[in-house]
Amino acid sequence: MSNTDFALAVEDLTVSFDGFKAIDALTLYVDKNELRVIIGPNGAGKTTLLDLICGKTRATGGSIKFKNEELTQMAEHKRVRLGIGRKFQTPSIYENLSVFQNLEVSFPSGRSVFGALAFKCTDTVRERVQAVADDIGLGDKLDTEAGLLSHGQKQWLEIGMLLMQEPELLMLDEPIAGMSARERELTAELLQRICQNRAVIVIEHDMEFVKRIAHKVTVMHQGKILAEGSMDKVQADPKVIDVYLGH
Ligand code: ADP
Ligand code: MG
Repeated sequence: MSNTDFALAVEDLTVSFDGFKAIDALTLYVDKNELRVIIGPNGAGKTTLLDLICGKTRATGGSIKFKNEELTQMAEHKRVRLGIGRKFQTPSIYENLSVFQNLEVSFPSGRSVFGALAFKCTDTVRERVQAVADDIGLGDKLDTEAGLLSHGQKQWLEIGMLLMQEPELLMLDEPIAGMSARERELTAELLQRICQNRAVIVIEHDMEFVKRIAHKVTVMHQGKILAEGSMDKVQADPKVIDVYLGH
């Protein structure tokens, strides 16, 4: 297979912080329309891997290819424009703006030649806002101030803000932390829907949730991949039980 068959091809990726290799010669391929879950003990390097892919942290060595472009030297905003969306652990929504406005400001303005002109309040934008709001279960909350939403709804709004940019790779770091059981269920359904048009990488600890959403699971440990495959295969792997699941 050539690199273009994958949504994302990470090869021999390394980053060291003062000599400590947080990511150590890691190779990982994610298919188009795949929902990959990354698990592993604290400090394994999971968040750092997402930081390297989105450009928040620069790699020391190795390669990250997305849509046949090398990302390792590319600026963070260019990676966003290329179609990479990243949700951090704490939501960064505008609390004093409405749900509608939060989604509207996330409409990509710089992508097409019409972008700057089409930016505000066109029918296109309004339709996209409504479609995304329906997708994230906030279709009837467009006028609600974001600060008044529940914790789970704020997380969904942030996912919606990323969806406004139609990313081809969406990365979510522990998206269900602090959510109620019902919110977790709805989030699982949401993720299953949104990976139909794009690749999604989720870091998660809740194994029931992982089991529900993962196409494949990658287990990280000490900056490397310890195991990879179906949930059943990974769960039965003695190495994985030893460093992670057994605790
Ligand atoms: P995980 O998300 O799997 O819990 P992280 O990726 O956050 O793990 O961290 C992996 C290791 O890299 C940890 O030991 C952490 O302290 C270290 N680390 C992460 N970012 C930095 C940084 N910017 N500078 C120094 N060390 C870092
Ligand atoms: Mg982390």
